[in-house]
Amino acid sequence: MTDTCNKKGMITFRQKQENRGIMGFLLIHNWPIKVKIPFISFLGVSLILIVTFLWFLPFIESRVMEGEEKSTIQTVDVAYGVLEHFNHLELTGFYNSQQAKEQARLAINRLRYRDSEFFWIIDETPKMVLHPKYTDLFGKDLSGITDANGMFPFRELLLLVKEKEKGFIELYWPKIAATKGEQSRKISYVKQYKPWGWIIGSEIDMDEVERVVSGLRLITIAMAGFFAVVTMLVAFIIGRSIATRLVKVIAGLKEVAQGRGSSDQAQCIAITSTDEIGTLSFEFNALMDSISDLSSFRKVIEEDETCNEVYSRLWDVFAEGLGLKSPVIYEVDEAHNVMSVAYPLNFHEEELHCSPDILDHCGMCKAKRTGHPISSLSFHKVCKQFLHIDEAIEHVCIPMSIGGGIIGVVQFIFNEQNKKFDREKIAIKIDKASQFIKEALPVVESKRLTATLRASTLVDPMTGLQNRRFLQECANNLCSGSKRRGKQIGLLMCDLDFFKQVNDTYGHDVGDEVLKKTADVLKETVRQSDLVVRFGGEEFIIILVDVESDEVMGLAEKLRKQVEAAEFPVAGHPPIKKTISIGISIYPEDEDGFWKTLKYADVALYKAKEGGRNQSVRFTKDMWEGQEY
Ligand code: GH3
Ligand code: MG
Ligand code: MG
Repeated sequence: MTDTCNKKGMITFRQKQENRGIMGFLLIHNWPIKVKIPFISFLGVSLILIVTFLWFLPFIESRVMEGEEKSTIQTVDVAYGVLEHFNHLELTGFYNSQQAKEQARLAINRLRYRDSEFFWIIDETPKMVLHPKYTDLFGKDLSGITDANGMFPFRELLLLVKEKEKGFIELYWPKIAATKGEQSRKISYVKQYKPWGWIIGSEIDMDEVERVVSGLRLITIAMAGFFAVVTMLVAFIIGRSIATRLVKVIAGLKEVAQGRGSSDQAQCIAITSTDEIGTLSFEFNALMDSISDLSSFRKVIEEDETCNEVYSRLWDVFAEGLGLKSPVIYEVDEAHNVMSVAYPLNFHEEELHCSPDILDHCGMCKAKRTGHPISSLSFHKVCKQFLHIDEAIEHVCIPMSIGGGIIGVVQFIFNEQNKKFDREKIAIKIDKASQFIKEALPVVESKRLTATLRASTLVDPMTGLQNRRFLQECANNLCSGSKRRGKQIGLLMCDLDFFKQVNDTYGHDVGDEVLKKTADVLKETVRQSDLVVRFGGEEFIIILVDVESDEVMGLAEKLRKQVEAAEFPVAGHPPIKKTISIGISIYPEDEDGFWKTLKYADVALYKAKEGGRNQSVRFTKDMWEGQEY
């Protein structure tokens, strides 16, 4: 089963589980583990038993028989040697033929092996020459004797020696010390002693062999049975133990999946062993911990107000949580094809690890351009913009990519100073960092979007100047800041003179152009720290931050003159020239309140208009006729 780790895979798995049917149960990999393991051991045990019965026991039996045969041949050969000895004494004249045979008979009669086994001798008639047990058979013709099966064993014995001189033959002899008529199965080994026409033989008692073999068989069966039972028992216990613990792990997983218990803390399952199941539980708990870390992180950054706060938290996670030293977070401005260091806030261009060109052309940043992580640890000199290419400094740049776009890049620098880079450790840390970046991406994007939208509501789209709303939002801050610094704010209320005429003469579009140009002139004339606000129609407010009272008039005049000097080109006409009237008030010199002070500037502006326009008028108390604002 190779169901993928996604919802579709889970549904397929559940369906398979529910609709397993008989065929499903026939497949061993669908069986429960507590059945699977004992079954496998049962299979193994059965195989061992089959091999024992079909091969091992018959093999033992044949080896026992082989041993018996060999030893019988050897002992008959010894007895044969006795006959040869006495024949030799006869041939050397020590005995005559009768004496030699008699001595030989006496000697053989006394010979015993294996406690009570003996030898017998017959001649070729066949008559009994010697039988230590059945002495009454001596001299008797044996050719008429039949065994329990009605065969004539002695006749067959003669045929055998005639043909081969020696060999084994099956005989049924009456049991010695047995009840009448009882016969035992014996295998006899016989050998012809030609000089005297004798045949000497001895038996293997098959009953005895059978006893030995059945003893061995019993031991083997008992041992096999014992091991089978023990193996099955162990398999059953192991199967049950694995299954029980797995069931616990599954129950734990289910509980976690269903989100039962405390939502703030990572759910964990009990670790009850150090085997693979223990490892599984441990890894699962580690995974849950990391998910919990990520989800807590997400919750916290969602409640942050600005992107910078999110960047600062990311930076803390990288630098303090993961020990990734000096990360740099770049923000990409796709619309203007630029990027800038968003965090750390006080980062200077000289501290950049990359060519500063990437800031003006963000496409030069490889991570931004490709959308892939760029690591010099995987490939040295991977990025040409990296400045420390020939030093022992490595970098990993992770693009912050969301919805196919790259909104930023996080750069990690590794400077281990002659120490070997522990790439595996770094890879784990970078993986973790990437998870946090991934988690932060949607939040960063939405905060950036909100900030952009908000900024757009504070800016006048035509002139690009801040608008009245912006002034409403920042007025308090401006005042408190300047008070804190013990400085003043100069307020210049400006209004273009006879502007209506422009519209009436050249049309509204030209009027717009003149307004835009005027805004540019004003913006260019004041300091960077001053604010130019389009307050409405053709009215502008200039806020001169931190000025001295005696500077304000001069600055207003400078502005007025700049506008007066400016020419606004119009197609098919001589360029338009406009003038501006300015009313001046100073906070908090005139009034302790921004809007009241602004009103005074308006009053002064009125006076400037009254006074003939194209002039700057400083507000004085006498202009205000005593009413409360
Ligand atoms: P003065 O201030 O010297 O008394 O004369 P004025 O002609 O400038 O006076 P008024 O305030 O009566 O006219 C302002 C004109 O500015 C009215 C309006 O048509 C024009 N105006 C206001 N906003 C815009 C704008 O956004 N674009 C254009 N083209 N004209 C605008
Ligand atoms: Mg006007
Ligand atoms: Mg006006």
